[in-house]
Amino acid sequence: MSLKAHESERFIFLNPDEIPTAWYNIQADLPEPLPPPLDPTTLEPIDPKLLERIFAKELIRQEVSTERFIKIPEEVLEAYLRLPRPTPLYRARRLEKFLKTPAKIYFKCENFSPTGSHKTNTAIAQAYYNKEQGIKRLVTETGAGQWGTALAYSCMIFGLKCRIYMVRVSYTQKPGRRIIAQLYGAEMFPSPSDQTEFGRKLLKENPNHPGTLGIAISEALEDTLTHEDTRYSLGSVLNHVLLHQTIIGLEAKKQFEMIGEYPDVVCGCIGGGSNYAGFCYPFMMDKLKGKTDTEFVACESKAVPHTTKGIYTYDFGDTAKMTPLLKMLTIGHGYACPPIHAGGLRYHGMAPSISYLIHKGYMRSVAYHQTEVFKAAQILAQTEGLITAPETAHSLKFVVDEALRCRETGEKKVIAMNYSGHGLLDLGAYEQFLAGKLVDYEPEKIEVPTIVPRK
Ligand SMILES: *Cc1c(COP(=O)(O)O)cnc(C)c1O
Repeated sequence: MSLKAHESERFIFLNPDEIPTAWYNIQADLPEPLPPPLDPTTLEPIDPKLLERIFAKELIRQEVSTERFIKIPEEVLEAYLRLPRPTPLYRARRLEKFLKTPAKIYFKCENFSPTGSHKTNTAIAQAYYNKEQGIKRLVTETGAGQWGTALAYSCMIFGLKCRIYMVRVSYTQKPGRRIIAQLYGAEMFPSPSDQTEFGRKLLKENPNHPGTLGIAISEALEDTLTHEDTRYSLGSVLNHVLLHQTIIGLEAKKQFEMIGEYPDVVCGCIGGGSNYAGFCYPFMMDKLKGKTDTEFVACESKAVPHTTKGIYTYDFGDTAKMTPLLKMLTIGHGYACPPIHAGGLRYHGMAPSISYLIHKGYMRSVAYHQTEVFKAAQILAQTEGLITAPETAHSLKFVVDEALRCRETGEKKVIAMNYSGHGLLDLGAYEQFLAGKLVDYEPEKIEVPTIVPRK
């Protein structure tokens, strides 16, 4: 067998000087413009200028841009190289062998970053643009803590203050990532907190309020609006977040080119949609141009079935109804997400561009129960030795099923999955799985309030 210098049995590497230097913006290639965000009070399209009090200006520009490629600033590229990027593409040969499948299975390794997931790809860019604008302090919310650690890391790199409202149940029950963010120098508060008007109101009603991501978003926004030197930072859903994540797919595309392959199936897990969009959009570009008929599969939790059971409509991003309205697949901003272990998949809505692509049939989505998901993760642990994040394991379940299907049909499909993060801080969930104590949830009924735009 002959191997090129950069290629090994298991890993396909890119050299640092082969890192992509521009992000890919899918808004340039969608068949029609995305429906505009609406002002929550007037229900009319929002003036992007109004968002300048919340987000750095350049991020707002990127949010609405239709430029196909947006140059990655030098300092961001340097921070990417330090993560390190490019991340390898991994061929899971032992998994293939175990499944006796003729399919080839590839993972893009986003678990390699210091905080263990893809989220640093956008956190670094957001911290950079805020610093460039002279902002001193970034505020955000976090559920299980992946986003909080990524922003805390990036603020540390660029010398910004960082404050994080962390959903109270996670703050107390899953302290691992809180401690990491604190170690990086971030200020952490359990949400609801006594730091905001909204938090104090909820605490008065229930001092032991467990919190939700929607509430934490509301608190972070209130904090931002009451501090002049502060901007808000969001870890998923918005166009500019998905844009920054395309570094994943752009690298992967080069890596597949190097080995003379092109994926037949591109899959990933979806919470707000950022890691999957970042991975798949550079391939989706080819599909939108009619060049390929690659299949796109987004994987979610049956407990939070935003794209498989949700409705394509305008909805709020948070519980307190402070955010602009986005047209998206949603199960309603009031949805009480059950306590599944994949904290990153517990969000009621979905990124507008992913929602659009699913709605129009360019990609499909599938949903799984956490018990079957952890079984797939166990197979990976016992073949490749990898401990998978519960979120990531949702797409792993699809990969295993698809590979077994290929065994039946004899198809030699190339399956590409974004390995969005490791599960080394989720061992409590694995312990419950091993003890047979995982509970599967499914909503009986989905109720999405109707919001009708004025124009
Ligand atoms: C946050 C997270 C997700 C879900 O968020 P997306 O915006 O959908 O990517 C998935 N996997 C991991 C490991 C995460 O940390």
